[in-house]
Amino acid sequence: MAQRKIEKSRRLFKRAQKVLVGGVNSPVRAFKSVGGVPRFLSRAQGSKIWDVDGNEYIDYCLSWGPLILGHARKEVLNAAALALKQGSTFGIPTETEIELAEVLKKAIPSLERLRLTSSGTEAVMSALRLARAATGRDFIVKFTGAYHGHADSLLVQAGSGLTSLGRPDSLGVPKSFAQTTLSLPYNNIPAVKEAFKKWGGKIAAVIVEPVSGNMGTVVPEKGFLESLRDLTQKHGALLIFDEVITGFRFGFCGAQKLFGISPDLTCLGKIAGGGFPLAAFGGKKGVMNLLAPLGPVYQGGTLSGNPVAARAALELLSLLKKENPYPDLNRKTDELVAGICQEARKAGVSVQVNSFGPMFTVFFSQQPVRDYSSAKKSDAKKYAAFFHALLDEGVYFPPSQFEACFLSSAHSDSDIRKTLAAVGRAFSRF
Ligand SMILES: *Cc1c(COP(=O)(O)O)cnc(C)c1O
Repeated sequence: MAQRKIEKSRRLFKRAQKVLVGGVNSPVRAFKSVGGVPRFLSRAQGSKIWDVDGNEYIDYCLSWGPLILGHARKEVLNAAALALKQGSTFGIPTETEIELAEVLKKAIPSLERLRLTSSGTEAVMSALRLARAATGRDFIVKFTGAYHGHADSLLVQAGSGLTSLGRPDSLGVPKSFAQTTLSLPYNNIPAVKEAFKKWGGKIAAVIVEPVSGNMGTVVPEKGFLESLRDLTQKHGALLIFDEVITGFRFGFCGAQKLFGISPDLTCLGKIAGGGFPLAAFGGKKGVMNLLAPLGPVYQGGTLSGNPVAARAALELLSLLKKENPYPDLNRKTDELVAGICQEARKAGVSVQVNSFGPMFTVFFSQQPVRDYSSAKKSDAKKYAAFFHALLDEGVYFPPSQFEACFLSSAHSDSDIRKTLAAVGRAFSRF
């Protein structure tokens, strides 16, 4: 297919680079790992997005996850507009915040007490501080390739040995901070056991994405999450589920319900924020009550529990509950994934397609992907070629090999068919 016209995006990208660092407000948007010109959007509706040059795309990025009912869902926008008429922010409590917290608590019972924040990063950062306060310990265990936002303690890569202390993964993260974080391989129970044996008395918490979305989709193997629960309990550490992606993704609940595990703390964002800047963390009452004003752990925010965002989130959650799109989302994703595998076989292209519920990743690899080191064996150059071929076909996948694609209830069977035809043509170019 002919290259699309992208002159306006090209011009905007040049202009953006003169005022915004790298032309963007979040790095992956700049297309650095796939090359080329990032598309600047003008609008979106349902499963579709339109760029400023008028090109239409079927969107599988979906703002990185929040839009499980698709873009610009009328009821959600109306709810936000109605709330906005009463004022955009007060910094004084509202009933809306209580309502939202009640809905979240009912859907995810481990959230005995909650706090609303404006971003997932803040939710995670606050949960870590709380875990450290609750245990009187400093160390955090995370998994390599996971993303939990950009707090200092989590921008950490593995040390030299399997259970050595971490090293900064970004300039500007103090080495001493990084040395309070252990970054272990996902799905590796022996590594976690070893870490607890070595550092058990110092570990405040283990933080994990129950289904990993940020090294691409990677599913927890049988017993992995259960072991984390057992080991944390045994060693007096907290288990934090970062459900910013997984919360309300697979059902009207957290992934914790699917796996039958009750974490001490849970972080939410994306879907739970209704496509607005709203996130949350919460958990056991005894731990959460350490937060100010009840306790000595500070946390707060000018826009926390924002009434417009909270009203939109409530509306999205109420639609989700009413419409229960999950069985249909799973069916469509299964069809898409099976179709992609079939097209790859036809074209003789080696891919591994990992999926769980309505999220999936096409890894250009010959080996199963079960952690970051196997994910990294994928051919990112091939992914970049695939990504651009799809873009030319009007299909928008995330601009990096190490991200998850998402489906929304607005994705139709015809979208799936069109996507598969595009995927087939993209593979045939290899
Ligand atoms: C997106 C994400 C975050 C960070 O949320 P922001 O709202 O972008 O700050 C944290 N954890 C996970 C698992 C995420 O996917």
